[in-house]
Amino acid sequence: MNKNVNLKTPALSPEEAADKYEQEPVDIAVIGAGPAGFSAAINARARGRSVVILSGDYRSSYMYRASEMNNVPGLLGRSGAEILDVYHAHAENLGAVLILGRALLIMPTSLYTEAGEIPGFQIAYGNRILSARSVVLATGAATAAPFPGEEEYIGRGVSYCATCDGMLYRQKSVAVIAKTKDAVEEAEHLARIGCEVHLFVSPSDLTRWGIQLPEDTFAEVQNASGFRVEGDGSAVTALAFGDDSIPVSGIFILRASISPSSLLAGLALDGSYIAADKSQATNIPGVYAAGDCTGKPLQVAKALGEGLVAALSADSFITETDKRLSDSGVHA
Ligand SMILES: Cc1cc2nc3c(=O)[nH]c(=O)nc-3n(C[C@H](O)[C@H](O)[C@H](O)COP(=O)(O)OP(=O)(O)OC[C@H]3O[C@@H](n4cnc5c(N)ncnc54)[C@H](O)[C@@H]3O)c2cc1C
Repeated sequence: MNKNVNLKTPALSPEEAADKYEQEPVDIAVIGAGPAGFSAAINARARGRSVVILSGDYRSSYMYRASEMNNVPGLLGRSGAEILDVYHAHAENLGAVLILGRALLIMPTSLYTEAGEIPGFQIAYGNRILSARSVVLATGAATAAPFPGEEEYIGRGVSYCATCDGMLYRQKSVAVIAKTKDAVEEAEHLARIGCEVHLFVSPSDLTRWGIQLPEDTFAEVQNASGFRVEGDGSAVTALAFGDDSIPVSGIFILRASISPSSLLAGLALDGSYIAADKSQATNIPGVYAAGDCTGKPLQVAKALGEGLVAALSADSFITETDKRLSDSGVHA
């Protein structure tokens, strides 16, 4: 480990980090707090980079519920919860900050720093933005297949982010398919800004999340399945389910895992996995991918190794960008 790096630096609190890195870019944003994301964060901190891990609560992951894992080197017989808690503590101890939130959209952009203009990314989550110079995607395997018609109408009525796209649907009818706890808040946001909201949520999920729906906020609340997105070729016109259908202009699909190509437009896939080379680079400069999201074997040891490589590649990307800028007279 690099002895010049002060690993004892106290981490910012998540709130402080969220404020700071809305204004100025963090070096590396890791999306996902599983073995791959924690490994990337640990190794990026060991290279002295500032790191934010943006993730849903890792304690609700499937791995956290695994009672015993027998092939994670050095951790024979430990439960998934014990292993993830250790990785979390390790990453935080080295100064990585875990911000709870679901990344909804990642946009490559120019960032304006005190030193000048540099390439980077803006990541939308909740109603906030995280700026980053480089991104490591460690979102795990996508667990939900898209609904029929969903991918065809992304950006033409299908959205994954009420905060990002809600204003486009003011005074219009929208459907919200709520598969996560924070989806209900996003549906309330849509109703507040003047959308007529048809909320699709299962009563058992509401009980599990401990949520009581507000009265009179939604035009309709239904428990349904078998969703299909319908459109006229250029925009969404309706949400169909079973033998039923409602006319809507927008459909917000709020599930825990967002398919990588919806998260980041233009990201190359290999089947349903993110295509990454041996340096864990994706086809988008500055974006790396690690762990289950890059494909089989879906195992912890592979996720840890890929997380390490992704962090080193992100570190080199930043160093090379700085060198290029410095050679051209701009100092990042
Ligand atoms: C029951 C069970 C038993 C298992 N047993 C073993 C075993 O014995 N040995 C073994 O090697 N492997 C085992 N595995 C597999 C292992 O858990 C996975 O390979 C490993 O968790 C992959 O790590 P990862 O970091 O790539 O993804 P994950 O652990 O899936 O982590 C992904 C994280 O990303 C977050 N996320 C996803 N999308 C977003 C987003 N848009 N914004 C923010 N955060 C997001 C998720 O909330 C999650 O926290 C088991 C899995 C299960 C379910």
